[in-house]
Amino acid sequence: MTLSPKPGVLDIAPYVGGRAAVSGVSDSIKLSSNESALGPSPKARQAFEEAVGLMAIYPEGSAQMLRETIGETHGLEPARIVCGNGSNEILSLLANAYLRPGDEVLFTEYAFIVYRLATLSNSCVPVAAPEANYRADVDAMLARVTPRTRLVYLANPNNPTGTYLTPDEVGRLHAGLSEDTLLVIDAAYAEYVRQNDYENGVAMVARFPNVVMTRTFSKVYALAGLRVGWAYCPAPIADVLHRVRDPFNVSVPAQCAAVAALEDQDHVRRSVEHNDRWRSWITDAVRAAGLTVGDSVGNFVLIRFPRTPGKTAADADRFLCERGLILRGVANYGLSDCLRLTIGPEAANRRVAAVLAEFMARR
Ligand SMILES: *Cc1c(COP(=O)(O)O)cnc(C)c1O
Repeated sequence: MTLSPKPGVLDIAPYVGGRAAVSGVSDSIKLSSNESALGPSPKARQAFEEAVGLMAIYPEGSAQMLRETIGETHGLEPARIVCGNGSNEILSLLANAYLRPGDEVLFTEYAFIVYRLATLSNSCVPVAAPEANYRADVDAMLARVTPRTRLVYLANPNNPTGTYLTPDEVGRLHAGLSEDTLLVIDAAYAEYVRQNDYENGVAMVARFPNVVMTRTFSKVYALAGLRVGWAYCPAPIADVLHRVRDPFNVSVPAQCAAVAALEDQDHVRRSVEHNDRWRSWITDAVRAAGLTVGDSVGNFVLIRFPRTPGKTAADADRFLCERGLILRGVANYGLSDCLRLTIGPEAANRRVAAVLAEFMARR
């Protein structure tokens, strides 16, 4: 007998993050990981620096201060909040705690890749429902629910498509699930959504015992490098997550910076306003260059390229890279004709638009 991991583990394609640099280009611009254009609040930076004096002590394991500050900011009960080493940790912990080998986990065709990873890590079966026009299709999802479906992940809004479901649609999805199936609403980009017909998931968690909402400090709060996320859960699920999580899963500087970031909602507002303005500007500019872009509600847009040789997404990626612009190829999502572009600072956005126009205009 040779040593082998659990069934499913070797079916996982190792995660490849957004590239951070281009060889031969010293001042490249990274627009590949949906990091915030404005960076973190100066107050978060200061809190992080002050935490240096605390590096010898263990963190407060339940992140109590952080849970209380999240509770105050969002009007939620701290006892039902669980913090994690990024929301990715929570997405995985939910799978680890609730799935048994052979269970089915449902998500959509172009859903965030981490859902598949958490599923396969637990020897479970990923079930991907087709999307309609790059948007989750509730009917297609419900058609794939079986007695073995134990967990449903819904990114709302979704990355990399940038589309979202309305409260009615999420409600209809939930209504089609049995009581012993968990619905996880991953609202990593919730702060960016200004649409009136969007709800981040809090109302669902308040009403139902089998719904969890996850959030992150990696996107609008710009603390991706610190790894902090959280979940709002029914009390019994919070209890389960506290049992299975690493006892000290959120580091001292991460907790300190996240609290300070929450206390600077003016910075959040500025970041959202910047995103609104430049997402709409870049959407128009990229369309004017002759490319297809859906309406995104996140801090990124998904650009579709022609299949014509010389004009493909791979050609564009090379052309952009040679000019120091790093976007995200999404072939691993089955979107080989697309590149995902994170909304950046003004100069970066203008540069991308100019280079894409040049790419499309060249013979
Ligand atoms: C970026 C992102 C996250 C955040 O992950 P963290 O582990 O909190 O950094 C979660 N879900 C989706 C869909 C994302 O795009």
